Amino acid sequence: MIDILQFLDSKRSELESLATEVWEAAEVGFQEFKSSRAQADYLEANGFTVTRSAAGIPTAFVAEWGSGRPYIGFLGEFDALAGVSQEVSAEKKPRVQGGAGHGCGHNVLGTAALGAALALKEALQSGGMQGTVRYYGCPAEELLAGKVYMAREGLFSDLDVAITWHGGAFNTVRMGTGTAMNSAKFRFHGKTAHAAGDPHNGRSALDAVELMNIGANYMREHVISSARIHYVITNGGGQPNVVPAEAEVWYFVRAPRRSEVDEIYKWLLDIAKGAALMTGTTFEENFLTGCYEVLLNETLADVMWECLKKVGPPDFDEKDLEFAKKLRATFDPKSLESAMTNQEFVEFPELKTQVLNTTLVPPTGKGRAGGGSTDVGDVSWIVPTVQVSAATVPIGCPGHSWQNCASSGSSIGMKGMLVAAKAMALCGLELVKNPEEIAKAKKEFDEKTKDSPYKCPFPHGREFPLDEFFK
Ligand SMILES: [Zn+2]
Repeated sequence: MIDILQFLDSKRSELESLATEVWEAAEVGFQEFKSSRAQADYLEANGFTVTRSAAGIPTAFVAEWGSGRPYIGFLGEFDALAGVSQEVSAEKKPRVQGGAGHGCGHNVLGTAALGAALALKEALQSGGMQGTVRYYGCPAEELLAGKVYMAREGLFSDLDVAITWHGGAFNTVRMGTGTAMNSAKFRFHGKTAHAAGDPHNGRSALDAVELMNIGANYMREHVISSARIHYVITNGGGQPNVVPAEAEVWYFVRAPRRSEVDEIYKWLLDIAKGAALMTGTTFEENFLTGCYEVLLNETLADVMWECLKKVGPPDFDEKDLEFAKKLRATFDPKSLESAMTNQEFVEFPELKTQVLNTTLVPPTGKGRAGGGSTDVGDVSWIVPTVQVSAATVPIGCPGHSWQNCASSGSSIGMKGMLVAAKAMALCGLELVKNPEEIAKAKKEFDEKTKDSPYKCPFPHGREFPLDEFFK
């Protein structure tokens, strides 16, 4: 059987050019045509059977090799973020003015998962072992939508385990749960009129949006303090002397648990109804997506940690360190200060002296909620799931930033990517070799989900609103 670590070292330059191609394309959610095609073509050329437009989504695909159990799935992403276009430079310098950029490192995310799938395939093939390896090309993670929609279509349902990762500051196994969330636009319809001439004949949709926001802001006091409610007004009318007949507000509701999001969201819907009543307008709810918090599988996390230890930290050199220091000098001191209160620093204060994480950090913060959301959450409620982390940015790097984009396109991101690919491939092989670990992971999963089986937050029978996010 081939050696996974050596095999991935031999693929290093191919993976780096693929990650760079995706980084340069910098396509936002559901528009990742080049990125998705590049990955799908690569896997097809390497012996995988590829189903394009999976779940009816043009940029989603599933690549599969092998036969029989176990079914090992690797989750990959490739979407960029609007507005954070950036060169590989420690000075703010957009590649495309106002353009999108990989400010969350999904260029290395997807490529590492793809590399892991390829390495596991080669290992099973050369070792004459049975199993099915799948790579999921998941679009629009930043919109919290791709995997949710794929989940509704049952694409993850027959997996035995799902393996993924995310780049970040540390080389570790992710133990936190993030937050569950809903994303929806509320579109109010009123009646236009001359705002000075005959306002009594008008009904302002903008008034409804404003009253809805006031209602939501009063609701805040009476929801759990860990909930997060944010909104932007996506349409507030045209000009002041025309009573706006149309107005729209886009909401995110987040909370540590799915059930808590459901409860707060129900209240928000009542607030929208109230706002419409008060203003003599009507509204429609445009539910875009909703996702679960991540369900931790400790059995798989233990297996992954052992694998990461075999791989070791990324081989950062002086040049990487120099670049990291320059980037770090651009971080807002306040956000650097708050990053330093992270659980990792509480448990391992010696990390504070590092600019780039050159060690392995034992998994910490088990079950910690809060912060952002990820649609990996949905997969984790369908099948036992594990997430590793490798250093792809300097410690304290703000998320969704131009600095993150610069680092994800540099050799720092590429080196973290290689570590993640190796750890994920080793983890997959370990599970194929030891079916009792899969059985244990499933038992843990069954116990944790028995009272609340997965129910896709995006309703059945509804068309996916792929074009609604950036409207
Ligand atoms: Zn991300």
